[in-house]
Amino acid sequence: MNFCFRWDTTYRGLPGFFYKATRPDAMPAARMLIFNASLAGELGLNADALNSPEGARFFAGEIPDGGPEPLAQAYAGHQFANFTMLGDGRALLYGEHVSPTSGRFDIHLKGAGQTAFSRRGDGRAALGPMLREYIISEAMHGLGIPTTRTLAVVGTGEDVYRQEIQQGAILVRVARSHLRVGTFEYAAAFHKGPDMVRELADYAINRHHEDLVGTESRYCEFARRVIAAQVDLITHWMRVGFVHGVMNTDNMAITGESIDFGPCAFMDRYDPATVFSSIDRDARYAFARQPEIAQWNLARFLETLLPMLHSDQDEALRIANELARSFMVAYPKAWLGMMRTKLGLTEPLDADERMISDLHSQMRSSRLDYNNTFLALTRSMEQDGGDQVIPEELQTWYQTWRDRVRAQSGGETAALNLMKRSNPVYIPRNHLVEEALSAASGKGDFDPLFKLSDILREPYAWRSGMEYYEEPGPVDSGPYRTFCGT
Ligand code: AMP
Ligand code: MG
Repeated sequence: MNFCFRWDTTYRGLPGFFYKATRPDAMPAARMLIFNASLAGELGLNADALNSPEGARFFAGEIPDGGPEPLAQAYAGHQFANFTMLGDGRALLYGEHVSPTSGRFDIHLKGAGQTAFSRRGDGRAALGPMLREYIISEAMHGLGIPTTRTLAVVGTGEDVYRQEIQQGAILVRVARSHLRVGTFEYAAAFHKGPDMVRELADYAINRHHEDLVGTESRYCEFARRVIAAQVDLITHWMRVGFVHGVMNTDNMAITGESIDFGPCAFMDRYDPATVFSSIDRDARYAFARQPEIAQWNLARFLETLLPMLHSDQDEALRIANELARSFMVAYPKAWLGMMRTKLGLTEPLDADERMISDLHSQMRSSRLDYNNTFLALTRSMEQDGGDQVIPEELQTWYQTWRDRVRAQSGGETAALNLMKRSNPVYIPRNHLVEEALSAASGKGDFDPLFKLSDILREPYAWRSGMEYYEEPGPVDSGPYRTFCGT
């Protein structure tokens, strides 16, 4: 059957140092549990052909003649600040697909069996965490946030053993590439001299920044773009209250796509110290620390590029330091600009920063729901007597803000336009995600999951009768805890 993949795996052109050719385990009992037909369409694939038993087996290791030549990628990384060798232990680059209209994409299989990098792991993935990644990655896409995506979740028909027996699954992940900060760290740490980092940087520039090829300042400019992409990404995360939870350097893609959705979750009540992950005991990856961690990770990235930034290493260090600092110059500006859109402010005023920080203090002290606070502000402008949707504690602040909006150019109409695009009505609320997952992996009932995913496809569009999906989880349910899907 013709799935319409156009394979062209350029990663094989890198030195063998960077990967190990690996075939996925064949899992003949595989069946398609989730198929993302709209993504398949965007990629120019034959959705009808793929969404079939044959398609499921194809994603579960049954490679036809002329099919892809998979490989496991080598990478290292700082996990909670400790450097270690990693690599694709339960994932594979199945191949690179060149879509007719939207460029080159990695097609990755997560949970396809052991590789040279599996160490003691089984190379498998359990269904629950893969369904979770499907929900969240597609929600991120709906929210307009750069992200790896999920083309399919395939049930392998095999058991995997975690604390208990679970159903095995393979997630088909789609990304602009899987080049991580950790891939650069691997090249710098495990090969003497700068040759491998240079190979990798040239590959990345070729693949993602073709206009820089052959230019003298390409490595500096490449670094600048990687930094800019992270500024953009983290600003988006902060906009919607997303806590990644495991911002290790191997989980930071140089494309600026969100990647690795293990313990991530969305914050309900506003608290900058929010941590969900059970293993993040020191709150290293708390909500408000994400910008500084991104900068820390970028500093690790820049260190690997030192030999290329300048022939004089003192000068290279100066450039790297300046680049690292540039994150903390650009990020606060981007964040402020983002907050202005959330509040519908069309023109900057000096007083805005104070107003924004007052709002955050109030949200924090009153334990207000982050997203629903901005949603209430948006709604207050859509209806007469709008201030009734504003929580009591926020009334004083609200009047100041409302006066400010009335007085600005474009007034309330312009504000409302901005706000409706920046403040989602729906996010993947933790209790809704859990509900969907327990129905799907517990009882084989996928309806709640499909319904939730459907709403999250267009999270800025209000739908009547869907109030249930707007509400934060019950306060008495205790703190939400997430676990890595390993
Ligand atoms: P992650 O927590 O997904 O970022 O993974 C960290 C590292 O552990 C990566 O090198 C993974 O490939 C590896 N890993 C995670 N789970 C497994 C598994 N079940 N089998 C083999 N390797 C794994
Ligand atoms: Mg990872």
